[in-house]
Amino acid sequence: MSLSASRKSGRVFLVGAGPGDPGLITLKGVDCLRAADLVLYDYLVNPDVLRHAPPHAELVCLGHHPQRKGLDPAEIHARLIDAARQGKTVVRLKGGDPDVFGRTAEETEALSLAGVPWETVPGVTAALAAAAYAGIPITHPAGSSAVGLVTGQERHGKSAAPLDYGALADFPGTLIFYMGVTTASHWAGALIARGKAPTTPVAIVRRCSWSDQTTIRCTLGTLVEVIARRRVRPPAVIVVGEVVSRAPEVSWFAARPLFGTRVLVTRPADPADALVAQLAELGAEVLVQPAIEISGPADWGPVDRALERLDRFDWLVFSSSHGVSYLLDRLELRHGDLRTLGGIRIAAIGPGTARQLRRYRLRADLVPEPYRAEALAKALAPKARGCRFLLARASRGREVLAEQLAGAGGSVEQIVVYQSTDVAVADPRVAAALAEGRLDWITVTSSAIAAALVRLFGADLHRAKLASISPITSEVLRKLGFEPAVEAAQYTMEGVVLAIAEGNRG
Ligand code: SAH
Repeated sequence: MSLSASRKSGRVFLVGAGPGDPGLITLKGVDCLRAADLVLYDYLVNPDVLRHAPPHAELVCLGHHPQRKGLDPAEIHARLIDAARQGKTVVRLKGGDPDVFGRTAEETEALSLAGVPWETVPGVTAALAAAAYAGIPITHPAGSSAVGLVTGQERHGKSAAPLDYGALADFPGTLIFYMGVTTASHWAGALIARGKAPTTPVAIVRRCSWSDQTTIRCTLGTLVEVIARRRVRPPAVIVVGEVVSRAPEVSWFAARPLFGTRVLVTRPADPADALVAQLAELGAEVLVQPAIEISGPADWGPVDRALERLDRFDWLVFSSSHGVSYLLDRLELRHGDLRTLGGIRIAAIGPGTARQLRRYRLRADLVPEPYRAEALAKALAPKARGCRFLLARASRGREVLAEQLAGAGGSVEQIVVYQSTDVAVADPRVAAALAEGRLDWITVTSSAIAAALVRLFGADLHRAKLASISPITSEVLRKLGFEPAVEAAQYTMEGVVLAIAEGNRG
């Protein structure tokens, strides 16, 4: 092979995606995904980790799931080899760790035979995730000095070697069974028959590290009955050993205030959304369906003209963080830099808007309390007479600020610095989750969003609890026939998160 040909040749990375929590993939795994042209991923992989792949990458789900027919192993091997030979960087993404019951050896043998270079990147395997996320100390100085990872599929898997249940029954430590739910009667029965005590504590940890993780405790003797009665379905690891009794009743993971709660965030899409991050940190499963979209104004003319005569205004007033970024980005694009602002004073409607200003190295001279237009107007009114205000606003918004400032003797000019438009069609998966009552909360973080949500989902909005950011937003909801379940005490995103956490408790 010539040097240039070899340089062009592709490579396959077998990457462990971790057990579910998308934060559990390694940095090296993320690097591989960033470089990928093709990603073949197993159904157990959380699709959230695929966001690390570049937009051009082809993403293919392999349904190893019994109900979903996917590619057979030979087809997968062919796909990997073909893509690598075309010079592509291929990521074979597997749940947990690729080398723990991941059938990796078959794939690496096929790749080696074909002369395709490959590397493996380890991941957090389900047993270790159960230790961390269900709080089971799988090794313990007083209880377990060894851990065995065991497959429950030995009878069905053609390639798996038969297990020595006598040796397993005598194993001096913790046993963790993978793929053992449907086969429990076989392996639990075999362990008991070889002398393992039926009273041995057992924990079934299902969907470990996902937001719907469950842990069920029982004993080796009751396992089969418990699986049937509680209708346990895969994927679950079954931990067998005395250490199970050392786990707390509720793990740190399940004890978080919003654990097991599904929240729909409806703000305009923003990858760095603090609202999403805060909800997730408290344990919520967060879905995102923007109800409105934000874009630049249809006509920048009035904005540009106002920016050219900023020295004629005393106050520049922002009523949202979007307003800050649209106006200041435009200023930079057209008029140089922040010096254009000169000595103008700046007002921000709330802490989120003030924070956005600080990202541009600007400090708000005024942030009212509470964080709403009426309060902003009230704070500015005493100084309004003879004052010239420039209000940077959305295409749709309330008039109250302009009216009250004008009423107090100020001269007011409003410029539309961004447009907000309704999203016309919801993601069908989100719409179905709502219709089927699978969402617990919906955040309603502005009046425009309230109205847009009603247009988007109609009566289905009754099927989840609504968390309103302020009395004004609540009023809009009520007028449209929807009573919010909670209202934020502070009219901020943090306020909405706190209100949901409190509402969840009550
Ligand atoms: N390579 C994977 C295991 C693949 S075999 C790993 O290292 O984790 C599939 C089995 O893994 C499932 O039947 C189940 O026993 C276990 N498993 C995978 N993800 C799991 C999860 N999030 N919670 C509990 N068990 C899981």
